[in-house]
Amino acid sequence: MALRVRVTISSGQSYAEEGNFPMALSKLQAAATLARQSDHPKLIAIALNALAYLYNQMREHDKGFDTLEEAYRAAKSLDSPGRMAMLKNTEYALAIDSGQVQRGLKALQAAVELERKIDAGPMIAISLVNLSDCYLKLKDYRNALATAQQALEQAQVINDESSIATARVNIGQVYLAMGRMADGKKSFEEGMAWYEKSGNKPDLQAVLAEYGEALEHAGDLTGALQAYHRERTLSNELFETRRQKAVMELQEKYEADKRQRQIALLRQENQVKSTELDNRRLQQRIWWLLALVFALSAVIVSFLYRKVRQTNAQLEEKNLELKQQSARDPLTALYNRRHFQEFMRGQEGIAQAAANEETVSALYLMDVDHFKHINDTYGHGAGDAVLREISDALREILRETDMIVRWGGEEFLAFLPAVPRSSLDDVARRLLNGIPARTIEYQGTTLSVNVSIGFAPFPLAPGGKTMSWERAVNLVDMALYLAKGHGRNRAYGVQRLTGNHSMSMEQIEQDIEAAWRAGNVELSVVQGPWPELRAVS
Ligand code: GH3
Ligand code: MG
Ligand code: MG
Repeated sequence: MALRVRVTISSGQSYAEEGNFPMALSKLQAAATLARQSDHPKLIAIALNALAYLYNQMREHDKGFDTLEEAYRAAKSLDSPGRMAMLKNTEYALAIDSGQVQRGLKALQAAVELERKIDAGPMIAISLVNLSDCYLKLKDYRNALATAQQALEQAQVINDESSIATARVNIGQVYLAMGRMADGKKSFEEGMAWYEKSGNKPDLQAVLAEYGEALEHAGDLTGALQAYHRERTLSNELFETRRQKAVMELQEKYEADKRQRQIALLRQENQVKSTELDNRRLQQRIWWLLALVFALSAVIVSFLYRKVRQTNAQLEEKNLELKQQSARDPLTALYNRRHFQEFMRGQEGIAQAAANEETVSALYLMDVDHFKHINDTYGHGAGDAVLREISDALREILRETDMIVRWGGEEFLAFLPAVPRSSLDDVARRLLNGIPARTIEYQGTTLSVNVSIGFAPFPLAPGGKTMSWERAVNLVDMALYLAKGHGRNRAYGVQRLTGNHSMSMEQIEQDIEAAWRAGNVELSVVQGPWPELRAVS
């Protein structure tokens, strides 16, 4: 608590030193309140003394005296001459400043007595100087000189230069008042020399003013003028320093304000910038997100696109396979009847006028002889094997450009798009011989079959007409029927229609044998291999 009170007092006194009395007052009042709370008389006396001194500085003399009153009450219980002397000095200051010189004198006399009691050297010297001041004010030169000389002695003992200087000034003042001009000036100048040396210009100015006044009273007007001149110069100097200081303070304050404004402006700018930055960051984030979404969609789209393409390719492949499957007979891998129909539809019938009469198209319809017997004797599997062997034989005997079709169970149709008219029988012969020449081994038995064939070239007549393919197949079927009827293992070919038109085409188709006899058609017969030539065992 003691430390808090002392620190608060120091703070208040510092404000007072600066001239900031409102702050000084609030601090010293706070110190007084703290001291009262502590209920410690010494602390109360110290705090209230400081407060009373401040009131004096503020020219609030009544308040100063009131405060001092309370301080005295606290100090009384202390029985401390030092504290009491301190209060007496404050009372002296208050009394002098409020124009009560006699009261000031009394307080000082009491202070000196108390200080002597405790042998407080420095305090005694100061109090004696003040006492001589008092006597000077009262024009009691005798006592003034005596106390000033005592003060000088006392100050010299403790080497208190400030008190020595002041004592010399006071002595000088007394001498001048008493008309001892040389002694007075000498003492005054000696005292002032210390003020000059110490650089205490405000005090020096006050002393110079006193000096001038004393010289003037003593009648030394030239000296007084000189002293006043020095005082004025110093005053101007001080004024200039104060002015510069004030200007500087003002400038500082202005600059501080400016800085504050700049800081506020910068802060604002900063805020705007950081908001902008945040916005930009957000924008960037959105762009990134968008880019990511685009990239992802691109990946997905390309993935889907590839997938679709893959699926399409697979589909195409499957379609092709399916088409092939639907076009082919599964057992022999030859074209089936439906494919042939489709193909022929695209050909617009058979027997378009060939440019060269010697090259014609031709149809060969083959039927295996007694095939049922193979199935019945060796089983269906054997029959299948035989059919496969026949298709191989057909592929070998015929050209690649010829269309070979599995027409029915054991019937095969071959469409030869271009063949010399003169070779038609040869082709039939090759088929009749080539098919039985192929044998298969089945469970220890060598199997071979004959075929019967009906065939026809197109166009049938010179300068040929177009004939629908159904009609053409019908015609060779009739020829095949003839071959079967005449003993099998042979081929009947419709070579040409003769010029004799006693029968219509329909009639010829229905009974080709009759038409042959009537001389409407010319047939050729090709015999198959004789049994002894066959490979059948
Ligand atoms: P023809 O000399 O008069 O032609 O006598 P065929 O026995 O050959 O004639 P038919 O029409 O009486 O008999 C044909 C047989 O062919 C009947 C059928 O069971 C058989 N067949 C038809 N398709 C197949 C097949 O894919 N595999 C087998 N193994 N047999 C078949
Ligand atoms: Mg048949
Ligand atoms: Mg048959």
